[in-house]
Amino acid sequence: MTVWNLGSINADHFYRLPHLPQPGETLAAADYAVGLGGKGANQSVALARAGADVRHIGAVAADGLWMVARMRAAGVDCTHVAVLPGASGHAIIEVDAAGENAILLFAGTNRAIAPDAVRAVLSGAAPGDWLVTQNETSALSEAVAEARARGLRVAYSAAPFDAAAVRAVLPGVTLLIVNEGEAEALRRDFGGAPPVPQMVVTLGAQGAEWHENGQVIRVPAFRVRSVDTTGAGDTFAGYLLAGLAQGFSPREALRLASGAAALKVTRTGTADAIPARDEVDAFLAAQPSE
Ligand code: ADP
Repeated sequence: MTVWNLGSINADHFYRLPHLPQPGETLAAADYAVGLGGKGANQSVALARAGADVRHIGAVAADGLWMVARMRAAGVDCTHVAVLPGASGHAIIEVDAAGENAILLFAGTNRAIAPDAVRAVLSGAAPGDWLVTQNETSALSEAVAEARARGLRVAYSAAPFDAAAVRAVLPGVTLLIVNEGEAEALRRDFGGAPPVPQMVVTLGAQGAEWHENGQVIRVPAFRVRSVDTTGAGDTFAGYLLAGLAQGFSPREALRLASGAAALKVTRTGTADAIPARDEVDAFLAAQPSE
């Protein structure tokens, strides 16, 4: 079973500054680091580390080839990542001495993915495969429509939250994955629970819930020492889908995803900090039985 991920690929540029710059100010950064990010790339890396057969559908420019190499090294099939003119998606993340940040995001080639190109890739998908997507690329609704016509299941992280995008794709979504803030925004927008067969709500250190047919399966988070929660949601989503694609029940997949996300928050970094499956299996095996 293959998981096709139509997703963003971003370079995250981190600058450590004495304070956030004012208009007109030139400020020297004390430190700089660059890493692979973007919700799409993070979820693909999580899927691959979990052992899923994951094929990424996306685009970078020539300045982003290192990111494709990084994803490939993690085990992601990048045959369908196009190289387009322009600039790759990237974020300029400024962090001041107090840990406050300001983030500038440029979608770049993530928003230049053509619907026809996505349809052509999905012509190679088989019924029962998954399409996974988020809100950081173009061609979302076309991809979801094509996937459903071909008998795929569709998982969708409605993040960053965008009411218009959610309304456009939700009719084709099988499994909606949101955090607490996004769930609240959806409830407000739809005046109640959003119309989708299955919904997972992640609740940070409180755990996660699976909503289906009016029933809720609740799984607590593992108690760990959290140092960096960046990418926790993407790690959770990738591992959850890898579990489901492997035939796990919702409860089993939630436990796997919670274990992976718990390990992630004990490490700093995003894609590079997503744990491998054997580490997650060892962590889960060491937990007291419920
Ligand atoms: P997002 O990163 O999308 O905002 P959450 O903050 O809800 O998502 O985190 C996703 C999942 O990561 C949670 O459901 C939980 O399993 C795990 N997680 C997040 N924070 C912690 C924490 N402090 N301790 C243990 N697990 C955590």
